Amino acid sequence: MSGLFDLTGRVALVTGSSRGIGNALARGLADAGATVVLHGLNPERLAAAEAAMAADFAPHQIRSLAFDVTSDVAAAEGIAWIEKNVGPLEILVNNAGIQHRVPLLDMEVKDWDRVISTDLTSAFLVGREAARGMLARGHGKIINICSVQTDLARPTIAAYTAAKGGLRNLTRAMTAEWAAGGLQINGIAPGYIHTEMTQNLVDDEKFNSWILGRTPANRWGTVADLAGPAVWLASDASNFVNGQTIFVDGGMTVVV
Ligand code: NDP
Repeated sequence: MSGLFDLTGRVALVTGSSRGIGNALARGLADAGATVVLHGLNPERLAAAEAAMAADFAPHQIRSLAFDVTSDVAAAEGIAWIEKNVGPLEILVNNAGIQHRVPLLDMEVKDWDRVISTDLTSAFLVGREAARGMLARGHGKIINICSVQTDLARPTIAAYTAAKGGLRNLTRAMTAEWAAGGLQINGIAPGYIHTEMTQNLVDDEKFNSWILGRTPANRWGTVADLAGPAVWLASDASNFVNGQTIFVDGGMTVVV
């Protein structure tokens, strides 16, 4: 790994990295040398992810911690545990997220609240706790995993769309408050990526052909497509990039 992108010795937390996009981002950061804390909600799935990654990296590089990103207490305890047991947290990727597909008229308040708290409030809660130490040390990187739904809307995912749009603006708000303290906060907005979250869409022939037609690159994204942009935003190569959201979507948001 050449100097600009070298993350050797830097401690990173990727929320929701027990599977899917988060796991690929964790692997990318570890490939660049970072010590990565894997994270999720389900302890068994997390332990399996840690065992799988431990086989591919140096033992000290892979740690894991389960906590609920929607809880302020759990977020504070989680960040404190990392700082004490792993090291000063230098990179935070706010990636954990869920979707709940239902027409807006049928949306129940509890489901709306669950999506908003998991996809938006979580970045505030975990980001706030991470930023305390980062600001005290005068440097740190926060990457918020947004979506093309920050810019585009589709039926049945209103809460998700509202949360991701909010997350893009939270990225700007964090920048307004914390950039002067040495932090870079940026977003990545993935297009349609083949993961567990989207498996039912991949399996839906009509939706699948719509996506291919709607995406200039003419394919679904893979989780590996997102690792390079994350390593760049986590590294010194992006030190004057502040408050931006990088669209990694095969061109979806630049065509109609
Ligand atoms: P997955 O459903 O595959 O993985 C979600 C991850 O988030 C899991 O690790 C899960 O943990 C964790 N998680 C969910 N809720 C919580 C919680 N309350 N506390 C802690 N961890 C939680 O999702 P993807 O990999 O597909 O998506 C990852 C991110 O990327 C999301 O923010 C999503 O919105 C975004 N995104 C995805 C796209 C796609 O096409 N897939 C496109 C654009 C954005 P556990 O395993 O324990 O349940």
